[in-house]
Amino acid sequence: ATPTALMVGTGRGAQLGILIKGPEVLESTRRVDTVVLDKTGTVTTGRMALQGVHTAQEGDEKDVLRLAGALEHASEHPIAQAIAAGAQDRVGSLPAPERFENVPGLGVRGRVEGHEVTVGRFPDALPDVLGRVKAEAEAEGRTAVVVARDGVALGVLTVADPIKETSAEAVRELRALGLTPVLLTGDNRAVAEGVAGAVGIDVGDVIAEVLPEEKVDVVRRLQSEGRTVAMVGDGVNDAAALAGADLGLAMGTGTDAAIEASDLTLVRGDLRMAADAIRLSRRTLATIK
Ligand code: ADP
Ligand code: MG
Repeated sequence: ATPTALMVGTGRGAQLGILIKGPEVLESTRRVDTVVLDKTGTVTTGRMALQGVHTAQEGDEKDVLRLAGALEHASEHPIAQAIAAGAQDRVGSLPAPERFENVPGLGVRGRVEGHEVTVGRFPDALPDVLGRVKAEAEAEGRTAVVVARDGVALGVLTVADPIKETSAEAVRELRALGLTPVLLTGDNRAVAEGVAGAVGIDVGDVIAEVLPEEKVDVVRRLQSEGRTVAMVGDGVNDAAALAGADLGLAMGTGTDAAIEASDLTLVRGDLRMAADAIRLSRRTLATIK
């Protein structure tokens, strides 16, 4: 009877849009008490748009857009795609970079039009005017990307990644199931707290500015505190954490690496399905016992 109930649970999951790797996954799903949520692409849509262009010197807008757009055009990061598309819209064609390097968790750097250029959250000194723009954008939950040329910060681009309409409700449902939601992101603390506040995650449960390879360490630390951890993510940068968690849940809208590393896939990328999955496993296993 046990395997039959598990098969039924698995089948019902598939109907709901929850793909379960194997029937045994339902058992670990049931024990989870902490749900770690990746921010970008999981709680937020991950489809960002370029909003503001702010420069230290008046008249530098086109330069900032051209240099940033040229490098970001070569990156697949959602922030990069927003900047490349926005720059192309505003300045037309972009130059090809002479050198390009992706720096996971920080941004991109390379050589454009004979200059060393960085785009992202590299530790450049910011003139006051840009520091204010950056702080204000981040307090509102937008990402501020610094564009520097030869080590001098020229401008700040603001990029917004809208929170998914279903995320706040999903967090309420997870709490109603007795789970503690934790927000985990490589993005900076101010942006992370802005998003956490909007969806109902406690500030004390925000873990920000975490490099991609450190995400799995955060999961392990929570486990060493005696917690049973589910991780929900979408990116290549979440794969190790998804595999290391007691239960890995991938957004079906995310990367193959995340899906392969996970036990469950939420087909529609709707975070409410994480709560549905836990409810389903509890019900399925209650039937057996
Ligand atoms: P998350 O963990 O939220 O999915 P990442 O680890 O991919 O985010 O990136 C962390 C942060 O590094 C981003 O929020 C952004 O500030 C910066 N960043 C990463 N890649 C880029 C890029 N290509 N261009 C600009 N900024 C970037
Ligand atoms: Mg992500």
